[in-house]
Amino acid sequence: MKTILITGGAGFLGSNLCHRLINEGHKIICLDNCYVGAKENLGDLLDHPRFHFVEHDVVTPITFDDKIDQIYHLACPGSPIFYQGDYAIHTTKTSVIGSINMLNLAHEHGARIFLSSTSECYGEPLQHPQKESYRGNVNSIGIRACYDEGKRCAESLFFDYHRHKGVDIRVVRIFNTYGPNMNPLDGRVITNFICQALRGEDITVYGDGSQTRSFCYVDDLLEGFVRMMNNEDNFLGPVNLGNPGEFTMHELAEKILAKIDTDSKIIYKPLPSDDPTQRRPDITLAKEKLDWAPTIDLDTGLDKTIAYYKQALSCACFKDITCNDGYSLNPHAEREETVHVSKLD
Ligand code: UDP
Repeated sequence: MKTILITGGAGFLGSNLCHRLINEGHKIICLDNCYVGAKENLGDLLDHPRFHFVEHDVVTPITFDDKIDQIYHLACPGSPIFYQGDYAIHTTKTSVIGSINMLNLAHEHGARIFLSSTSECYGEPLQHPQKESYRGNVNSIGIRACYDEGKRCAESLFFDYHRHKGVDIRVVRIFNTYGPNMNPLDGRVITNFICQALRGEDITVYGDGSQTRSFCYVDDLLEGFVRMMNNEDNFLGPVNLGNPGEFTMHELAEKILAKIDTDSKIIYKPLPSDDPTQRRPDITLAKEKLDWAPTIDLDTGLDKTIAYYKQALSCACFKDITCNDGYSLNPHAEREETVHVSKLD
């Protein structure tokens, strides 16, 4: 049994990872500031004897009495409507200061630390599909920069802590991922389209719908996470994790409409600025180094996700809320002083 810290553990990927690692027999400490993540995603885990939830923002340093073996550093809003607006500055702080805090913690504990970086490091890519060696085309002053540049800086910090302090790091670049526990308000394309179709609202395609994305089902992604974290070949990454199947947003809308009995029609809205035209991972490296490739195709994954949202949308908490295409959040109060967590039994 390992003691594993998961930052952003109540979010979409984090909560799915908490469930998986508890089932594998580990002790889990889950940190989350509960902005975008929600304790509801953790369900029964909150009462599990090997699971500990700590409400905390990674921008504030934290120490633990427990000896930590591994850290999955996932904390950061991943959805454009969450990381833009009021939360933009805090997003950069989360990636930069939050990564410094977690790298210091890893150094102190001799723990291995994993960074969930992003395909956004490639920006508006001029190479297609994107290989890890591609250095990207990011607009450093655009509305996505807080996320893109924040994660790029986090990658730099990880590699500098490895080179200069010997911290044991693993870095993955995640491409678009979907599945249960995605926040229905996060404005992402799969959540929006499914929720709109289930409610009989029009499906909002941005631009002309010709932009492409590649969608990976969450269980496939987490298999890649665990393989990367536990590889003993000193393979540090960065490595792309994503499903190379590539679809236009128009194709995605048609697919979802065909799966749901609805009167919804497709309507077109303006394309947000800096919205990448195309994105598809080259996963040759993940295949070679981790023997990893996705196994769940888009149709199967969409069926599972639609089933989840049918249930989630019937919950009282989501009833009166319409899908989001504009959102703003007030930053969580940050504290200066280090938070200490006593031994967790
Ligand atoms: N998108 C869309 N309609 C929506 C939400 C998003 O057409 O209701 C488009 C968006 O402009 C982008 C793509 O879908 O081109 C993926 O958007 P998402 O926010 O899911 O992910 P990201 O842009 O971060 O890849």
